[in-house]
Amino acid sequence: MIKKPFFCLSSPSFSYELFNTSSDQPRIIGSPEKVTLFVKTAYTQKDALALCIGQRVKTGQKLTLFNNSDAYAISSVTGEITSIEPYSGNFGQAHTAITIKTDAIEETDDAFAALTDQPTIESAQSYLADIPGCPSFASLADPERPIHTIVIVGGDNDLLVTTNQYTVMTDTDSVSAGIQILKEMTGIDNIILVVPRESVQGFGHTGAQLAAVDTVYPSLNPKMVMKNVLNTETPAGQTCEDMGVCFFSAEAVASVGKAFKNGHIPLAKTITLITKDEKTLLVKARIGVPFSDIFKACQIEVNANDRLIVGGPLTGTAVYSENHPVLADTDAIMVQDKTDVSLASDYPCTNCGECVRVCPADIQVHMLVRLLENGMYQEAAEEYDLNSCINCGLCSLVCVSQIPIFQYIRLGQYELAEIEMMEADND
Ligand code: SF4
Ligand code: SF4
Repeated sequence: MIKKPFFCLSSPSFSYELFNTSSDQPRIIGSPEKVTLFVKTAYTQKDALALCIGQRVKTGQKLTLFNNSDAYAISSVTGEITSIEPYSGNFGQAHTAITIKTDAIEETDDAFAALTDQPTIESAQSYLADIPGCPSFASLADPERPIHTIVIVGGDNDLLVTTNQYTVMTDTDSVSAGIQILKEMTGIDNIILVVPRESVQGFGHTGAQLAAVDTVYPSLNPKMVMKNVLNTETPAGQTCEDMGVCFFSAEAVASVGKAFKNGHIPLAKTITLITKDEKTLLVKARIGVPFSDIFKACQIEVNANDRLIVGGPLTGTAVYSENHPVLADTDAIMVQDKTDVSLASDYPCTNCGECVRVCPADIQVHMLVRLLENGMYQEAAEEYDLNSCINCGLCSLVCVSQIPIFQYIRLGQYELAEIEMMEADND
């Protein structure tokens, strides 16, 4: 969890970091000895496993996990599968981890290249679901929720992070190529590129309409973009997709453009690395590379009880090992020194009202958190708008009692969704 002490050396800033094209280019992390790829499905059907230990794989090869399911990963290296194991993700979600030991000589699989002449959502879904930026093809393919507008976010979802700004400002051609591909495969012409107002020049030729938003956090949050750019309120409990709008990050669109233009599946993820002294640098590492490789290449020492966070300072999630791999949606990695880590506090709410004042969704956060602390998720949704939360994390940042409000909210939303799913299954 992120607490105010992260900012103790400097005043809290509520504006997005702005990427400057004269800033350093990303540091390229060299070939890893091994990668670990996650497939978002449980490792339960060993009899139906379509992969085996010792199997050799090529870079860009599709690794279908089970014979009777579509779940897959794309190998980011050439080498040999050394393990296939269950892995527990956020909130205990069941995944499968495939580890590959890398060969010195790289071979590239060309199965995807044969599909690039006529881009379709189906071909994209079956090869590109886990490319850098994680494009939302599943949303585009959902007949229950037809999409009429695609919004591309040329900025990032947390403070200090510049991964998507970097992409949109330095790889505009790939973003433009991706926009053309999206138009071709979906027939959707209403595509809007949203960028921070200060960086609005230079995007006139992308093929998307351009919209500028304030640099004040969380103006790039999808529900804020819905409200301020599309003039559409997203009702509590509904998603942007329910309203016919699908969001892509700039990096996802650039990855789609590169994939169909070059015939190779992009496998290098751009990441904003936030160091213990709050400096930021960009790195590029292959999906599956362990964080430890990045820290080593950037001379960052991680000691016992330091905290590793995937994501930015407001909305990131702690992970417990330097072996955690880079995933397709790892936009930022933050390292906090153990002396800056604040553990969950026992201080009670003082009713100071800071969380209520800062909340962009006008939630009575101090009341909401009381219910969430006691596991009263349905009451939290019915009485205090749990489902209206846009997950910005500002309430945790300002809480004088250092209550991990945002963590309670995320857990509450997850548990509530599980309850609702179980009730739907029982109907
Ligand atoms: S409750 Fe907290 S995380 Fe949710 S929108 Fe309000 S300030 Fe942001
Ligand atoms: S900021 Fe923290 S202490 Fe203040 S009202 Fe909100 S929950 Fe209570």
